[in-house]
Amino acid sequence: MPCCSGCRGRPKSVPADSRASALVAAARDGDARSLARLISQVENGSAELRPVMRAITPFAGHARVVGLTGSPGVGKSTVTAALVGAYRALELRVAVLAVDPTSPFTGGALLGDRVRMQDHAIDRGVFIRSMASRGHLGGLAVAAPQALRILDAAGFDVICVETVGVGQAEVEIASLADTTLVITAPGMGDSIQAAKAGILEIADIFLVNKSDRPGAQDVVRDLRNMVAMARYSEGGWKPPIVSASATTGEGIDELAGRLDQHWEWLGKSGERERRRLARAREEVSAIAIAEMRRQIGGLPGQSRLDELAGQVANGKLDPYSAADELIGLSAS
Ligand code: GDP
Repeated sequence: MPCCSGCRGRPKSVPADSRASALVAAARDGDARSLARLISQVENGSAELRPVMRAITPFAGHARVVGLTGSPGVGKSTVTAALVGAYRALELRVAVLAVDPTSPFTGGALLGDRVRMQDHAIDRGVFIRSMASRGHLGGLAVAAPQALRILDAAGFDVICVETVGVGQAEVEIASLADTTLVITAPGMGDSIQAAKAGILEIADIFLVNKSDRPGAQDVVRDLRNMVAMARYSEGGWKPPIVSASATTGEGIDELAGRLDQHWEWLGKSGERERRRLARAREEVSAIAIAEMRRQIGGLPGQSRLDELAGQVANGKLDPYSAADELIGLSAS
């Protein structure tokens, strides 16, 4: 029976593995639409992701991932745009992924109205995309690393991950990066806030943006005091504090230089491998947990989970025995 009136009489559809390989090959050839489709598959948790991930594995592992994080309004997207300019001047290909852990929505709105990014909108060496985890089981913990893998395999030299929104999720997403840039600015009162949110621990570099505004030096001083009080291991990386103005471009070269230094240190110290291994662990376990949830969930009202839950609710079974049985079931 034909699957729809549109494909009646056509030869059998192309197998998923060939479809995935063709899409990946097109994305690697610089086709932005194919790349966008791949990222959409990640967002939607598409069944095609498995063959896609198999197809990209030989090509991934080269890109350098820079995370940019900080409260709304500090200038993340302006800084990102300035950094994109600095990397393009070196003829590096750059991807920008804006993730919003707090929003279930996606699409162009997040970045489309960001004027500064539009300087790069027609540059073929730049790919800009915002992403949410709409419909993705496991949420951004699963989706964001997959999107990074795809951009990496597509041949970008640098991937900037900009997080929108605040809170723990932001910290988690930032930890996907090789280098995490924590951005503050004068007049935001957020150097103290940053310490509270535990963001200090994840900072590889602090950027005090809006250095053209009054009070920037006070923020630099506050951060210096905080860094001075923190303990860093011998031979470890002590986060430098860079002051810049993303709108005038002042300090952006210094920032790019610090990012290079950190990248070199990651390589020399072995920290890059350690971080990548830790991330891969998180990634695999997030996928496994999401898959387990999917398997044990079943259809509402028909699953073994519902049956066992009924027994637990009636006092016929204890919840540990029920859970053990459920896991045994899902593993079979
Ligand atoms: P985000 O919400 O953290 O991404 O911040 P945006 O990049 O959207 O910037 C917020 C506002 O700060 C915008 O009006 C920018 O033009 C402005 N801004 C960004 N960087 C600078 C800067 O270096 N100096 C000044 N004076 N304003 C800036």
